[in-house]
Amino acid sequence: FFLGRAKVEFNHLMVVSFFLLVFIMRSYSSIVQNGQSLYIHLPFCRRRCYYCDFPISVVGDKSSSIASKTKSYIDLVFQELENTAGSKDIKLMSCYLGGGTPSLASGEEIHRLLSRVRDTYSLTDNAEVTIEADPGTFNEEKLKEYCAAGVTRLSLGVQTFEEDELQAIGRSHSAQEALDAIELVAKFADSGKLRHGWSLDIISGLPGQTLNSWQRTLEKTIQAQPWHVSAYDLQIQPGTAFGYWYGAARPQLMNNEKIKFSSKLLPVLPTEDEAADLYIETSRVLQKSGYEHYEISSYSRLGRSTHNALYWQPGGTWLALGLGATSAHAITDAPYPVSQKFSRPRTMSAYATYVAELRKNKTFPPQASTNITLEDALAEDLMTSLRTAAGLPLARVRSLAGPKHLKAILRATEDARLNDLAFIYHTPQPHARSSLRLSDPDGFLCSNYIIANIFAELGNLGR
Ligand code: SF4
Repeated sequence: FFLGRAKVEFNHLMVVSFFLLVFIMRSYSSIVQNGQSLYIHLPFCRRRCYYCDFPISVVGDKSSSIASKTKSYIDLVFQELENTAGSKDIKLMSCYLGGGTPSLASGEEIHRLLSRVRDTYSLTDNAEVTIEADPGTFNEEKLKEYCAAGVTRLSLGVQTFEEDELQAIGRSHSAQEALDAIELVAKFADSGKLRHGWSLDIISGLPGQTLNSWQRTLEKTIQAQPWHVSAYDLQIQPGTAFGYWYGAARPQLMNNEKIKFSSKLLPVLPTEDEAADLYIETSRVLQKSGYEHYEISSYSRLGRSTHNALYWQPGGTWLALGLGATSAHAITDAPYPVSQKFSRPRTMSAYATYVAELRKNKTFPPQASTNITLEDALAEDLMTSLRTAAGLPLARVRSLAGPKHLKAILRATEDARLNDLAFIYHTPQPHARSSLRLSDPDGFLCSNYIIANIFAELGNLGR
């Protein structure tokens, strides 16, 4: 089962998405009332990248159209905010402006948005306020305005430094724009204007990518010295351009002569083995350069993101606003720490209807079903904890789920532990802090299989 990387299914992110989707479908929550983190989705992008299945709205390059659409959208978000449970009693440790491409918004709009957040909630003294930004969408003046509006951290979506790879995935920016953006952002972080630093996003497994080209991207990443790196592996999602080009239907399409579908236009995707090699190289190179690999896709040199840390906690709570945004609400009477998720509609018209309903009828969406089993909650904990280097605390499972569930987890990971894909990390004293961890990088690479095996074993308990 665990033998050979050739059989590794390299899609960690898909597992999480699938799990969240199932969970969302099962458990609509009421409007989230409390939280220490706020996510606001700003959905506009100049065009859709070929791999992207995020809830976005394409606005092209015309700045007047971007400005008017952003203004109307933020007005809609304000209506959502007014009709949810905003309160000064809620202390935000972090506010995250994600997208989409939030950096298409002007400094004035970001100021208007963050002022309303501050009018509604309390922000802690050291609150982290992150904006996602793409190269080619901001300059020094705009960055100054963002910082003046309260932004303290920036997450830069570079993805690759190779020009042909950027084109192959349909990004709107060039490699030179990425380098220019890095120079600017690093200057703001070094001078303390972005006091929580900055993060760089890169993606491995891109069409046409080789170990050599990926090594060049990693080298430039290290030279840029970001405080944090998110290194994802490309997922081919159904419904995207890549889903169509590279998805399961492609062999049939290629054999159908009526379809002009020249393979010359499509660079070859790395195989699963090659993609695994890229993942291993990322882990090796970044750790050698002083980055801590603290989560499957996340590396930190100077402090982790407060916002991300909340996502890895079982029962984590966060507020969310905007198109397609998902909030999480801790269930206080659950047998195990768990939160219910609620995702807002993913199209602009459906989101506008949702906000209108919210204004009319404050109980929209439907009240939460609290019918969450111990196994549901434990599954969520496994999905999040085993993605992190800190792993799954065994004492938490023993005390909250009981020895039977703990034994099942240990039984299910016996092979993985024999093959050095997982291990029990024992603290010298007290043993109460021992945890089940996946090895880096091989265990992380096999996380899908290991977690699926645990789910199967837990499923057997009820029979
Ligand atoms: S910039 Fe990001 S959100 Fe926008 S289309 Fe590309 S991947 Fe999707």
